Amino acid sequence: MSEKFDVIVIGSGPAGYVAAIRAAQLGFKTACVEKWRNEEGKGVNGGTCLNVGCIPSKALLDSAYKYHEAKDDLAIHGISTKEVKMDVPAMIARKGQIVKNLTGGIAGLFKSNGVTSLFGTGKLLAGKKVEVTDFEGKTVTYEAEHVILASGSNPINIPVAPVDNDVIVNSTGALEFQAVPKRLGVIGGGVIGLELGSVWNRLGSKVIVLEAMDSFLGMMDQQIAKEAQKILTKQGLDIRTSSRVTGSKVKGKEVTVTYTDKDGKEQTETFDKLIVCVGRRPYTEGLLAADSGVKFDERGFIFVNEHCATNIAGVWAIGDVVRGPMLAHKGSEEGVMVAERIAGQKSQINYDIIPSVIYTHPEVAAVGKTEEQVKASGEPYTIGTFPFSASGRAMAANETQGLVKIIAHAVTDRILGCHIVGPSAADLVQQVAIAMEFGSSAEDLGMMVFGHPTLSETIHEAALAVHGHAIHIANKKKKH
Ligand code: FAD
Ligand code: NAD
Repeated sequence: MSEKFDVIVIGSGPAGYVAAIRAAQLGFKTACVEKWRNEEGKGVNGGTCLNVGCIPSKALLDSAYKYHEAKDDLAIHGISTKEVKMDVPAMIARKGQIVKNLTGGIAGLFKSNGVTSLFGTGKLLAGKKVEVTDFEGKTVTYEAEHVILASGSNPINIPVAPVDNDVIVNSTGALEFQAVPKRLGVIGGGVIGLELGSVWNRLGSKVIVLEAMDSFLGMMDQQIAKEAQKILTKQGLDIRTSSRVTGSKVKGKEVTVTYTDKDGKEQTETFDKLIVCVGRRPYTEGLLAADSGVKFDERGFIFVNEHCATNIAGVWAIGDVVRGPMLAHKGSEEGVMVAERIAGQKSQINYDIIPSVIYTHPEVAAVGKTEEQVKASGEPYTIGTFPFSASGRAMAANETQGLVKIIAHAVTDRILGCHIVGPSAADLVQQVAIAMEFGSSAEDLGMMVFGHPTLSETIHEAALAVHGHAIHIANKKKKH
């Protein structure tokens, strides 16, 4: 008889490991299957986020920012530094240690919550059976009442710039450079391109970002995107929109990229390293037996309803492998929701209020609808903005670039969206997300007491500005 679990989760990224922990907390006999192996060949939990995504990229962003700050930004505070040196291998090693601590932490959490950790490749068979093939090739089949598929996503490859993991890399390779490339090309001016482009730009690379679309950060609020583009360009990122890559040729340790520019003219650029980051796609290789019965949607994601149930009763799917933004926190919340629904609770997710952040410096953060989306919906709206240049706390920190923008319904005053480019935008936008979750109006937010001097006061002022009541800036009230 094969061992039976109440819940088997396949994949231990932020969606899967959170689902497994919550299921175990709720009293279910739970196992989590993971096939990721570290450089020593050992199984590790944590998925993309912990191993090659959110955490390592932020570790390098912080190291690179500290270098830049020490070198270029302290003089204004009256602090002089002598020669500031960087040690790229030490930065990469620090990042590696953080990854090791955090992935090891998941193993500890599994243990303390009673989750059985199985290393190997999991495959869903018909009848909610899960076949696990370990790293030695040994196969064991388990039975489960519920199976949660959390197999994540993989980078999209493009034939015009095939990744060779040497000169042409994807995001994973770009977290491992042992020296600063003099000339760095980035294909794709999205989240990864801007974050990793910023890391190497701050450390001294000349960075050119080739973005196929005509607009910069086309999915974001365009007022904020334009401001972000201005700031990042000033920092040295050479962002070329309407640039469609048509080919690449590696010769020795460099690559020459050809692309058509906004006028349709062919251009070439030569780089020492090229990062391809044109999006990610759901990853389901080897996950499902031919007769598992699980359906996909038209874009290749596992098809699920609003509660992450697939078309097969007792089989669920969460995280990057299903529709919605590819964000760690979205997958984690889906994991909690599914575990709780298995337990008979009525948990749900408000997909309209999922914050997103680009961790450049300053950060770009958003929650809710953009002005473009509100306009297209036909809803009447009012906007309040407040620039960081008018914030005392931002001035004290010499972080005065950017603005907060709050969009409210013109009749109900309910907050529809908040978009920020500026210092600590990630943490600021979360405050508005909390307000939105409680159905706050702009007036409610304006009536709250904010500590002084804080960056949060910019949110207070933007909320007041919705009604033309901002105190520390001249008011421009406008109904749309
Ligand atoms: P994953 O994290 O991809 O985990 C899936 C796991 O399933 C993997 O470990 C995989 O090995 C395993 N698996 C797959 N198939 C099988 C199988 N058959 N058997 C066993 N195991 C299997 N998001 C943010 O919210 N904030 C950020 O700052 C951020 N930064 C990022 C930076 C980079 C460079 C990248 C690449 C991504 C970043 N993301 C960020 C996105 C984030 O990493 C993903 O949204 C998140 O990891 C998705 O979680 P997941 O659990 O669905 O999938
Ligand atoms: P993305 O979708 O953010 O950006 C990809 C960009 O590449 C787009 O602007 C697109 O127009 C452009 N593009 C597509 N094909 C192209 C081509 N052939 N030539 C030039 N440009 C092209 O994708 P990403 O940056 O690869 O990130 C993948 C996912 O990972 C995202 O969905 C994101 O949510 C997630 N992620 C999140 C964070 C974060 O939350 N801070 C950080 C990194 C990654």
